[in-house]
Amino acid sequence: MAHLSLYRKYRPATFDKIVRQEHVVRVLTHQIERGEVGHAYLFTGPRGTGKTSVARIFARAVNCEHPVNGSPCGKCPVCQALSVNSLDIAEIDAASNNGVNEMRDLREKVQYPPVSGRYKVYIIDEVHMLTDSAFNALLKTLEEPPAHAIFILATTEPHKIPATILSRCMRLDFKLIPEEDLEKHLAGILDEMGRPYEQEAVAAIARAGAGSDRDMLSIAEMCLAYGDKLTYEGVTSVLGSADFMTNAALVGAMLSGDMPAALAAAEGALAEGKSVGVLLRDILSFLNGVAIAKMCPNAEKLLALPREFFAETARIAKLAEGRAILRATEIFTRTENELRYASSPRISLETAVLRAAMPQTDLDADALILRICALEKQVAALSAGAPAAQQPVLQSRSAAAPVPRALSEEEGTAEELPPLPEPPPLEEIPPWEEPAGQVSEGPARPPRRSAPPRELTGTRRSAEDVPAKQSAAEQAPAAVPDAPFAAQTAAERSPATAAPDDSPEAVFGLFLRRLRKLPKSGVVYALCRDLAPSREGETLVLTTDVRTVSDTLNADKHRSLMQEVFAQIGVAQFEVRFATADRAEARDGIEQLKKDFSDYPVEIK
Ligand SMILES: [Zn+2]
Repeated sequence: MAHLSLYRKYRPATFDKIVRQEHVVRVLTHQIERGEVGHAYLFTGPRGTGKTSVARIFARAVNCEHPVNGSPCGKCPVCQALSVNSLDIAEIDAASNNGVNEMRDLREKVQYPPVSGRYKVYIIDEVHMLTDSAFNALLKTLEEPPAHAIFILATTEPHKIPATILSRCMRLDFKLIPEEDLEKHLAGILDEMGRPYEQEAVAAIARAGAGSDRDMLSIAEMCLAYGDKLTYEGVTSVLGSADFMTNAALVGAMLSGDMPAALAAAEGALAEGKSVGVLLRDILSFLNGVAIAKMCPNAEKLLALPREFFAETARIAKLAEGRAILRATEIFTRTENELRYASSPRISLETAVLRAAMPQTDLDADALILRICALEKQVAALSAGAPAAQQPVLQSRSAAAPVPRALSEEEGTAEELPPLPEPPPLEEIPPWEEPAGQVSEGPARPPRRSAPPRELTGTRRSAEDVPAKQSAAEQAPAAVPDAPFAAQTAAERSPATAAPDDSPEAVFGLFLRRLRKLPKSGVVYALCRDLAPSREGETLVLTTDVRTVSDTLNADKHRSLMQEVFAQIGVAQFEVRFATADRAEARDGIEQLKKDFSDYPVEIK
């Protein structure tokens, strides 16, 4: 006896055996029960979701003499006749018969009345594969169909169907089948076959089916050939997944920042013969499991892993930070997308492993520059005898949050606080060119940006975050040890404190706002934010006490970007200057005075 695939052997014969797709089944059974069937249907949806199965059941049901709940009875003479020969039901695979001749042939034959039942049903699978002229021929038939003809067009790509055809069809969309339904379906079939199985194995196969019943059943078939009992281990070896514990070692090492161990585990998996693509998917799937174990109280049920495997997943989840899991998932998702274009997939994979193993940092040069700057600032503070590591944590975090901004804990705190009346967003602040009298939307805030010591208390985040930070500073001054900052913030909000428009601070503030809007200005913007502006004759002098900042900004590439923006706002000459630690300290004092007296019309030098 010929071997029948599981999918064909267990093809549903009645609507109630269709997995999911109740919305489609309800429409069709309703029509059959009322005797109001249409002439043309379009079944769309991903492959393996039951389009052809439903079409076949429907084709027999419309002919059945005594349909049961809309499904063919299987007993009446017509059902019997159709089970022997199916002259009245024609299946055409448009993928292989995509020509105009087939459609013309169909147009002729459709005129003859049905042999045994009431309707002739044409099921055209993969209908989007028809050629234009074939579509035209089909359209002619659809325009004036004989009363006894029903067309069911099935496709995975409805967007390729001409509108003239679409408009003549009743469209029914099939959906991907959820894992638990696939699982139930497979378990039912295995019970019927009398094959023993582990629940975890069934769950793993259902997951691999990815919403497609047909795919799941063909995977199940491979796994059943592997041994008498369907075991989780058998399934993972058939699916080509790396050994669970190898994955666990890799992901565990990665999330705990152990680069050598993570790399070694990746090497090991590849040496066993896993392809890069399979390993990547395994890592992503494992990370997903870790995320679920971290976040969901009912993770054990959701993951349906063997006990010791779940224990290991939960252990890794407990040790890892939620943010690190998320970040690693993002890195590997991106890598998976890029893999098809990668000249060396292996290097892409290893790079992803390394990046994921370095929490809060990236390997790009921009991020490194920022980190070096932060370190130099700490050194400068130490050598100046300042209360050394005043905000070491915040500083290092500011370094760690590179230009593609990462979520910081402070943001979390700030967001939890009750909302305060916020200063106007930067965009609402009138442009620099406008006369001072028109400043009505809010106080000018730019000067605050130019104050290095103030900025250090926060993280280097994008300017959108400033209002949130201010709220935090005011609401809980203890969180930001710099009390004058809060006072300063409050002072700034009073309309009386609008800075004179031609002050270096205002000019520089405008510069920063313009700069921020430019694409690729991330590093320059981040570095510029800490500069202190002043004026020497016609030259706008921007001072920093960090050599790397001045060196980087004075590099041609960055300087020309700054020049471009300054030219837009009418500043012809500017200079980025490195101040020694001593001078920086003195200047800080002056800055502080300037700030404290910014309400008064005095000039501080
Ligand atoms: Zn029947």
